[in-house]
Amino acid sequence: MAGNDTPIMRQYQTIKAQHVGFLVMFRMGDFYEMLGTDAVTASGVLNITLTRRRTTKDEEGVPMCGVPYHAAEGYIGKLVSGGYKVALVEQVETPEEARAARGSGALVRREVVRLFTPGTLTEDSMLDATHNKFVVAVTGDADQPEATPAHLWRGALAWLDLSTGDTGVRTVGGATLATALAALEIGEAVAHPATEETLLKLLPRRLLNVQENLFNPVAAKAALARAYGVDVQSLGLPNTTATTALGAVVAYAELTQMGKLPTLKTPHLVSENTRLALDPATRRNLELTESLQGTRAGSLLACIDTTRTSAGSRLLARWLHEPLTDGTALAARQQAITALSPVLDQVQALLKSTTDIARAASRLTLGRGGPRDLQALAQTGQMLPQLKTLIAPLSASLLAALARQMDGLQSLTSTLSKALNPDNLPMLARDGGFIQAGYDTALDDLNALLTHSTELLQNLETEAQATSGVAALKVRYNKVWGYYFEVPSATAAKLAALPGSFIHRQTTTSTQRFTSDKLLTLERELAGAGANALRRELELYDTLVAEVKTASVGLLDAAEALATLDVLAAGASLNAREGWVLPELTNDGAFEVKQGRHPVVAATTAARGEAFTPNSCNLSNGQLWLMTGPNMAGKSTFLRQNAVICILAQLGYPVPAVSARVGVADAVFCRIGASDNLAAGQSTFMVEMVEAAHILNRATPKSLVVLDEIGRGTATYDGLAIAWAMTEDLARRGCRTLFATHYHELTALAQENGGVFNNVSLHRVAVKEWKGQIVFLHTVEDGAAEGSYGVQVAKLAGVPNNVVARAETLLNGFLKSAGQTRAGGVKGVARLDELTLFASTPQTIAAPQKPSEVQSRLEGLDVDTLSPREALAELYDLKALLH
Ligand code: ADP
Ligand code: MG
Repeated sequence: MAGNDTPIMRQYQTIKAQHVGFLVMFRMGDFYEMLGTDAVTASGVLNITLTRRRTTKDEEGVPMCGVPYHAAEGYIGKLVSGGYKVALVEQVETPEEARAARGSGALVRREVVRLFTPGTLTEDSMLDATHNKFVVAVTGDADQPEATPAHLWRGALAWLDLSTGDTGVRTVGGATLATALAALEIGEAVAHPATEETLLKLLPRRLLNVQENLFNPVAAKAALARAYGVDVQSLGLPNTTATTALGAVVAYAELTQMGKLPTLKTPHLVSENTRLALDPATRRNLELTESLQGTRAGSLLACIDTTRTSAGSRLLARWLHEPLTDGTALAARQQAITALSPVLDQVQALLKSTTDIARAASRLTLGRGGPRDLQALAQTGQMLPQLKTLIAPLSASLLAALARQMDGLQSLTSTLSKALNPDNLPMLARDGGFIQAGYDTALDDLNALLTHSTELLQNLETEAQATSGVAALKVRYNKVWGYYFEVPSATAAKLAALPGSFIHRQTTTSTQRFTSDKLLTLERELAGAGANALRRELELYDTLVAEVKTASVGLLDAAEALATLDVLAAGASLNAREGWVLPELTNDGAFEVKQGRHPVVAATTAARGEAFTPNSCNLSNGQLWLMTGPNMAGKSTFLRQNAVICILAQLGYPVPAVSARVGVADAVFCRIGASDNLAAGQSTFMVEMVEAAHILNRATPKSLVVLDEIGRGTATYDGLAIAWAMTEDLARRGCRTLFATHYHELTALAQENGGVFNNVSLHRVAVKEWKGQIVFLHTVEDGAAEGSYGVQVAKLAGVPNNVVARAETLLNGFLKSAGQTRAGGVKGVARLDELTLFASTPQTIAAPQKPSEVQSRLEGLDVDTLSPREALAELYDLKALLH
């Protein structure tokens, strides 16, 4: 960068070198500029012009682009959502200050004032109102040997949402880390180098930030002490690793905010086994918070979210990410949902007019809030007493606790309500005008001066006219002289004769101009009033923000109470408005659903004007249902609806059924066979098997397992063998299991094993054949499906007739050589012990021989339409063909 070796470039280079991995936005006057490769990157992402910075006209210079300072937020947001991190460099003194301190030509000092990283954003414009964005930290126990096998690894996971002050920590093991991470919406992750490899298997590299020093136990503990202002001991963290992980995440946030932190909530401690385990594949396959297309629309969350606030929406997502296993906590939620019914409409209406106070408080305490954030707190504070009055008398201990949690804001609310002028609330405090008249006398005086200036000047004019006896005297103003009295030259002597009252200033062709002590004073006051009023307002703003800080623990409590109430009310609304029922939760192995529905599929069918057929299910005490039925019959829907019902039940929520009895599960597993999911581009047979292995390693008799067409992604007999072995294993284990399969051979497990698996039973999703067409009934009934109707489905799908006819022929050939008949389904199947599943040379299905000409000709004959004559002719022809 020849020629760019100027002091300012050196200043830039120093900062740039200290912030590897960040795009540096460098404040120069009214712009933030980016230089070098940063400029090339940013101009592309932001679609802004790339120029060059040159010190002399001839040199090559460096690439440069810039954005105006007042519009920076939008540009930064775009860069961060594009996966970049931004270091924002400000001028921290004025050029005058620089000159005064270090002589003429001194360079203005510049410093990084903020690091924008995807996990530490606080600006509304950069955040999704309905999602948390966590920065997480993971570290392993210090005392485990380096060669610890992955599944024996122990450590801790901590998380923090800087925009709401939510924090939490849990201990994790090699087997539970993936599930624990999947429960968090992660913006970025910081990790100790020793856990880098483990995390890379679970998170995309771009989210990962490896930093050793953050995990120094002493430094981490100190960060916690700074953030909470209490003895770290009193936080009750489970062990040193957890303390270090939480400290690391807090220290990282502090680093990005240049030492500032919002008030943090007391860390949420998640003990092991208190959450329903849902691994990443299960969440994905059940489309809990995202559809398979990656959108919120089409997910279970979108379907059940009738919350009225963004904070409620965020909390519902958290609940759905982490259903409970604790019966007492679940009973408390159910009780609250029931109790809310009679006041549901009022509660939801009040909630709707509350604001996102956690995020407002976070911005204010980080020093980047504004009058509107204060107003948000005031507005919500005013709603709290009404909400409290509504819910406190209801007979639910959880609601009573929430009512108490709403208590701590009276004084802040009353101060803010008195202080703020709701008719003028600028984004930024520096725009002024947001303090209500009557709140502060000093400010009122200054404002009075400004608003009454005309009147005051007129008063002075009248007074001067009286004193001087010159009726033509006028108060005038110009930029050079400011205010003055002007009189026609002829009358000037009268004023000149009163030197105690009037001071001569200037003579023009026809007038003379005077001033007076009073006019000078008023002028000074008027000139200063604007600036003074703003200064006073900013002082008051700071005092109010300080009060917010003082009240912030109460504020965060109230925020949490509101969000919780919102989520409970949303649950009550599913009951009141959708007719869902609260399930009976038990401690045993029950799972009995009467007339269940899949909420998302039912909504889409309803949108098409079709009815959804409800279906019952009973897997109590480790029943395994083998589900068969043609494609499109509704197997996958039935499987998922039961898994979803289990999950909703463990939210403490109502479920879409007529009634349900659910023994609280420790885990729900859901897998989809590879071929079902190829469109998503993520499934290979290997992935399918890895995921299946995970289930077999983890499922207990308390788990609910849903397997949809497992074993499809490979050759027929491999797949069958695997599916078979898995079914046996799950049946032996006594997991409540739904297993949909197209391997009709598997049905032998239920029928022919002499009672070894008396917990395995056959079910099918009914279809009927009508005039060669297949009609889907979507009803689940006992028994095995009669064939798979693949050819009919193909026909239904519009595959051309000639292809369908040919497929029909081929199918008959296949079945004949495999010793089956189409309609016979299971009946004709080779017995299980004859299948020699594990023979070293896998049996292959004989390909049908190419039909002879005679066969083809016969196949093509429509006998019913032949006249006797034609038939006879045909016979002769056929006979001739044989020779
Ligand atoms: P399969 O897994 O047997 O191929 P799916 O479960 O994917 O079938 O269902 C296919 C389609 O059938 C669904 O997209 C839905 O439109 C419809 N469907 C499924 N179950 C029902 C039901 N119980 N009532 C009404 N329509 C249903
Ligand atoms: Mg399916």
